Amino acid sequence: MVRFTVLASGSKGNSTVISGGRTRILVDAGLSCRELFRRMKIVGEDPETLDAIIITHEHQDHINGLAVTARKLGIPVYFTEATHRAWMRWLTPRRQMSYAQWIELCRKQAAERQAESDNASQPGDPAETDPEETEADCAVASAQLQKPAPAGPPSMKEDPTWLPAVEYFEAGRPFAIGDIGLSPFTIPHDAADPVGFVFGAEGVRMGLATDLGYITPNIKLQLRRLDLLLLESNHDLEMLRDGPYPWSVKQRVLSRVGHLSNDAAADFLSNTYDGQAAYVILAHLSENNNLPELARVAAERALAGKASLLANRLLLAEQHQPLVPVIF
Ligand SMILES: [Zn+2]
Ligand SMILES: [Zn+2]
Repeated sequence: MVRFTVLASGSKGNSTVISGGRTRILVDAGLSCRELFRRMKIVGEDPETLDAIIITHEHQDHINGLAVTARKLGIPVYFTEATHRAWMRWLTPRRQMSYAQWIELCRKQAAERQAESDNASQPGDPAETDPEETEADCAVASAQLQKPAPAGPPSMKEDPTWLPAVEYFEAGRPFAIGDIGLSPFTIPHDAADPVGFVFGAEGVRMGLATDLGYITPNIKLQLRRLDLLLLESNHDLEMLRDGPYPWSVKQRVLSRVGHLSNDAAADFLSNTYDGQAAYVILAHLSENNNLPELARVAAERALAGKASLLANRLLLAEQHQPLVPVIF
């Protein structure tokens, strides 16, 4: 049995559980660990049985509960390398310095490098030849070795970026976690290395594409022959234009690396989508710039011409409660 359960979708948090064969994965951890577990219980999923967490990109609504959840469950996290780095940078507070302090730092570093290279070029460098020096080095090394190993993982305070295990994947290179196959593909979005996925389990194909400015030719190729399509339908263009966001944010949402509008999703559904999926789930709806009914009507119109009566059951993913699991 294959189960696809959206726990939350929207700018306040995204998470989906996919279960196939003996494997269960969590796609994005955008809610607090406690809320994730609460919602999993509601839909009858046991958090303890999760095998891995997969991250689409490092925006806060996709990684908010990541470290705590991964630590609590002791399971690996799958990122692209660039997303992992971006996530670590986000968690590591940066020290602000003035221009004068920066110049001073550069000067010191240059002086240190100069001193090092002066030492290295001295003939008969004592560090190389003096046995006492070597022994002293060994003493330091063995003292370090004899330090008791820290008991268990570092605390969040000591190292907020610590994870039980990290695995890297690359867009365009399919891989598997247990019984679930994953095909990551690049999406245009203002993050380090954002991806969408096609998941496969027990012959069921499920596509997930949210947080994308537009649908590229490659995404069109990926989102074919699906049994389930979860697609962003973020905003109504007029609501966004007239809405409360500052102009810079509106520009960002509307840009080629922003979010997919109801119209853009509908355009894909009517003109490109092959109409084969049993379920179409509209996702990442904006609470400020969209209304579920607007998204639904746009998608319904777009799907009206699709032939099969059994296909294209339309569902809307929600921010504040999980969707009933889709079961194959
Ligand atoms: Zn998002
Ligand atoms: Zn995003």
